[in-house]
Amino acid sequence: MPDLIHNLEAVRQRIALAAQGAARDPRSIALLAVSKTFPADDVRAAYAAGQRAFGENYVQEAIAKIEALADLRASIEWHFIGPLQSNKTRPVAEHFDWVHSVDRLKIARRLAEQRPDNLPPLNVCLQVNISGEASKSGVSIPEAAQVAQEIAALPKLRLRGLMAIPEPAGGIDEQRVPHRQLRELFERLCADGLELDTLSMGMSSDLEAAVLEGATIVRVGTAIFGARDYSN
Ligand SMILES: *Cc1c(COP(=O)(O)O)cnc(C)c1O
Repeated sequence: MPDLIHNLEAVRQRIALAAQGAARDPRSIALLAVSKTFPADDVRAAYAAGQRAFGENYVQEAIAKIEALADLRASIEWHFIGPLQSNKTRPVAEHFDWVHSVDRLKIARRLAEQRPDNLPPLNVCLQVNISGEASKSGVSIPEAAQVAQEIAALPKLRLRGLMAIPEPAGGIDEQRVPHRQLRELFERLCADGLELDTLSMGMSSDLEAAVLEGATIVRVGTAIFGARDYSN
């Protein structure tokens, strides 16, 4: 746990330094702490250190954690960032504040249908397969504008922006390329009239590149909570 507090502070400093390098206000970059595979107690410790937004990838694990932390629910933001199958949209629509991984219209329609009326609109990002990898989910750059317009028209959802998980790259210059492509797409969609404010990009190994290219949410797991163990 002391590690966790120290790590969180180190990540905040990385964001602040990168923001300074980009002449950006560090407060314009939100830190999403990706707590997948880590227990509710770790989330509680990060919360005690001031962290409020948490990202989860697996529906069952996330719901169990959200329930274990029900006492903090009103002041935590839960973000779903993992691959989403259409038969799992309902618990996500019911329990989360954000979904970053909307990768097709069908998923957005189901989330809109299943979002409870007593909750505020679900914040969503359209996931873009920026490197065009066959194995990655996300819409392609050419199809993004059409899908974004259709999602923006759905009730009970608020399309906030775009999300991407670029292929790992070595140096910061290479890392900036896909982040720049996502930002340029974001700017085209805004110019087309969509009111977007969110670029969800950058993880433990490339958050500086993402901040330099305009990220407004960086999603950081390993650098805060440590290496993940998938064995259980
Ligand atoms: C796991 C995950 C992260 C965090 O990755 P780290 O490299 O551990 O920082 C960010 N975004 C998504 C979509 C993830 O699945």
